[in-house]
Amino acid sequence: MKQRINILISLLALVLVVLFVMQLYLVKTTYDYKVAQFRIEVKEKLSKITNDYSDVDSTLFHKKDFLYKELAENYLIDKNYRSQVKKQLLENHFRKQLTERLQKEFDKEFPNHEIDFAIILNKFVIYNNVKKVDTLFAEKPFIENKMYGNLASLDDAFLIRNYVGTTSSNGLKSNYKLLTEDSLYVSVKNWELIVLKRMSLILILAFASILTLIIIFVITIKSLIKQKKISDIKTDFINNITHELKTPLTTLSVSTKILERKEVKENEMLYNQLIQTINRQNERLQSLIDQVMNNSLGFEEIELNKEKIKANEFIKTIIADFKMAHPFIGIQTDFHQETQLNLDAFHLTTAITNVLENAVKYGAKTIFISTHLQDNEFKISIKDDGIGIAKNKHSLLFDKFYRVEQGNIHNAKGLGLGLYYVDQIIKAHKGTIKLVSDLGKGTQFILSIPS
Ligand code: ATP
Ligand code: MG
Repeated sequence: MKQRINILISLLALVLVVLFVMQLYLVKTTYDYKVAQFRIEVKEKLSKITNDYSDVDSTLFHKKDFLYKELAENYLIDKNYRSQVKKQLLENHFRKQLTERLQKEFDKEFPNHEIDFAIILNKFVIYNNVKKVDTLFAEKPFIENKMYGNLASLDDAFLIRNYVGTTSSNGLKSNYKLLTEDSLYVSVKNWELIVLKRMSLILILAFASILTLIIIFVITIKSLIKQKKISDIKTDFINNITHELKTPLTTLSVSTKILERKEVKENEMLYNQLIQTINRQNERLQSLIDQVMNNSLGFEEIELNKEKIKANEFIKTIIADFKMAHPFIGIQTDFHQETQLNLDAFHLTTAITNVLENAVKYGAKTIFISTHLQDNEFKISIKDDGIGIAKNKHSLLFDKFYRVEQGNIHNAKGLGLGLYYVDQIIKAHKGTIKLVSDLGKGTQFILSIPS
């Protein structure tokens, strides 16, 4: 049974992990898709502005073309000018103006987003004549090759488009074709947040469904464990009660058999003795049944018959009766100021006797009983030097039918109802029980009842 529960728990946990991983994968895929979609959106809008970005300001672009031509021609005249070309291109004097113009256009189109951009120069190639190609400049896009724009790094940016420009000149001085290529990179500030916002519904649903699954998982496991505990307790109880019933029943059947014998019928003393034994066993059976009936009541069902009682005096009487039944148990007491309390004497007597009986049953030689009034609570401490109770058993101790070890049935008989009853009675008095104990260190019960 326990193994089956463990297998079930492991399987459920595994399924939960798989579902969680799948959920993560789906969310990640959706995120990637949303990012791609967002970029396409930005690209489409920006493309419209920059489709022919000479629209932005034709005079500026004219200047740019002019600079290109000038540089190309300078180079053709003096090949040593080569090193100057890139420098001049990047240090162009329309940089500031063009950046501002484009920025304005972007802001107009995306009023809700903050957009940074850069135009990066990639290529500057001169075709001098059909055979001769002069690649003055051809590099992968680097932020260092920014011609204009306000982007500081390409890390978070994405490519919007490449511009390939060709210019040809058939002048007298020179005859060449110029090919230039530059790229527009854009980065939208807080784009991750924008994408996540668009995914909020999916994120909430994914999170809620996983959370619901975990909650259902925990509830299922908890109820499984609880059921297992209940079934264990039931089995224990049945074992205990059959064991308890067996002794009187065997004695009864043996006694009746003996009674049938002729010589017994003639011996009056033996006959009476047997009748007494039968009576005793009968009473024992009766009291066992009563114990089960009475002790299994819940505290809500117990009707208390409270009366004003002098607490210390009341406990002294219980101890006196207990001493008579157990003359060999040492009892030490320590009583403080007498207190009047509203108590049900009958139920409380049984409860306190249950605790004292337990002490004897579970190995005590001496019991130390003390009472005192503290913070408007009357506290009764019952401490023994018996076998003690392991700490991990404390939480179960007051459960109905619970006994610490199934193995100790034969050492000390019981149904596991004594402490359950004590707990119910103290609860019915609106009180609490504290337990201080560990294996081999004796046991102390402190019963507190509000005064
Ligand atoms: P019943 O009282 O119904 O005849 P029981 O004594 O086994 O049976 P409880 O009085 O409810 O049942 O006690 C529950 C368990 O707690 C006991 O089986 C015993 O193992 C443990 N226990 C209770 N009191 C003590 C104690 N003073 N020292 C050590 N173990 C104790
Ligand atoms: Mg008991």
